[in-house]
Amino acid sequence: MEEITYHSTVEASGKRRWLYPLLRKGAFYKYRSIVSYVLLIFLFAAPFIKLNGHQFMMFNIIERKFILFGQVFWPQDFFIFVLAMLLVLISIVLFTIAFGRVFCGWICPQTIFLEMVFRKIEVWIEGEPLARKKLDEGEWNQDKIIKKTVKHFLFLLISFLISNTFLAYIIGSDNLISIMIEPIQLHWVGFISIWIFTFVFYLVFSQLRELVCIVACPYGRLQGVMLDKNSLVVAYNYIRGEPRGKLKKGDAESHLGDCVDCNLCVAVCPTGIDIRKGTQLECVNCTACIDACDSVMDKIHKPRKLIGFYSEEMIVNHHQPTFTLRMKAYSLIIVAMIAVLSYFLLSRKDVDVTLLRAGGMLYQEQPGGYISNLYNAELTNKTVYPMNIEIVPEDKNQKITWIQAAPKIEKESTVKVTFFVLLPEKSIHQRKTNVVLLVKQNDKIINKVKTNFLGPVN
Ligand code: SF4
Ligand code: SF4
Repeated sequence: MEEITYHSTVEASGKRRWLYPLLRKGAFYKYRSIVSYVLLIFLFAAPFIKLNGHQFMMFNIIERKFILFGQVFWPQDFFIFVLAMLLVLISIVLFTIAFGRVFCGWICPQTIFLEMVFRKIEVWIEGEPLARKKLDEGEWNQDKIIKKTVKHFLFLLISFLISNTFLAYIIGSDNLISIMIEPIQLHWVGFISIWIFTFVFYLVFSQLRELVCIVACPYGRLQGVMLDKNSLVVAYNYIRGEPRGKLKKGDAESHLGDCVDCNLCVAVCPTGIDIRKGTQLECVNCTACIDACDSVMDKIHKPRKLIGFYSEEMIVNHHQPTFTLRMKAYSLIIVAMIAVLSYFLLSRKDVDVTLLRAGGMLYQEQPGGYISNLYNAELTNKTVYPMNIEIVPEDKNQKITWIQAAPKIEKESTVKVTFFVLLPEKSIHQRKTNVVLLVKQNDKIINKVKTNFLGPVN
């Protein structure tokens, strides 16, 4: 078995120790690769897919316009978007309580890009850990210059692709294509942003790497408060493994546990930790150590899963995973939030109306025995089609007089309109009368707005 030395991200002197994790393929690696490639395809394709005329996903913080699965969320819908984001957050918390930091190892784009893209390119160009270490420590000869140039050129190229995709999520793929095909003078800000993000991603994947997960990511730091002794995490079964020790020939009746102290689980760890020391903040649940240890167990003809998905209760008391009170509470919150979110989504209108009575005016007397109030309205067309809007009172005895023509609202835009609502004076019996206005398009009611009408008290 190959001799592997212990890794850590920090030297005794406090200087960073560069990690050279070994790549070992096993069952978990196979599943993780499939999940990663599906997510990578989705990540690169989503900004270029259109649904109902909208980009499939967009997070335009500049214009405060968000699109999820083809559904547009304008500033008026912001609470729905926040609710959806809260739902995602609580789901991640629930998932962490139940399965540890599995999000980090399997779904987080940082890990997927680092382990499934950048690390693979590095192994392809520079070789296995020992070769990579030798190359880094060796002098700058022709071989090193060529390998480093090719690697960093590819890193920069992929960072450029990620940067463009990232920007497509923010400003929209149509705007991104405009930046690409139109003269640069028209898009200085976009052009500079692409290169800033390119260098940020390049820095993250070529230099910072696991430090992002260990030092910068707040989610990793929260792990300690989310896990309990029932959480299923990647763990070393120390009851079975200890006391650890190297296998000696003819040592069939050894007093040792199943861990042969080969350090392979440490060598494959992308964050450089030794899982045998217990659950640690740095563990991203990538399962690389499970695959590595399984391969060792196969070789020494011992059962697999010396390292596996275990809770402390499973290791110590052989209890099966349970659905704890905390998990039940979070699940209940998630179900309630899904119900509220579904209600808001289903009751969303294509045209949003914000209606306000004009300030500083009470009412006006109009010819024909009518009393009028002046209103300002803001109409937002959330669709990708222009709309001709009509607003009429629900009560046939009431009337509307437009200050300007009835509005046509261009796609994804807002217009401000002003109009009088007229009520027959004899129908007014109190200072405030409730009025219902119907917003129509092609004679179809698409929204209903309630407002107050001020009149003279008889
Ligand atoms: S836990 Fe498994 S991989 Fe790790 S040192 Fe022990 S035998 Fe080797
Ligand atoms: S300890 Fe195992 S699961 Fe955790 S990060 Fe290291 S290799 Fe991945």
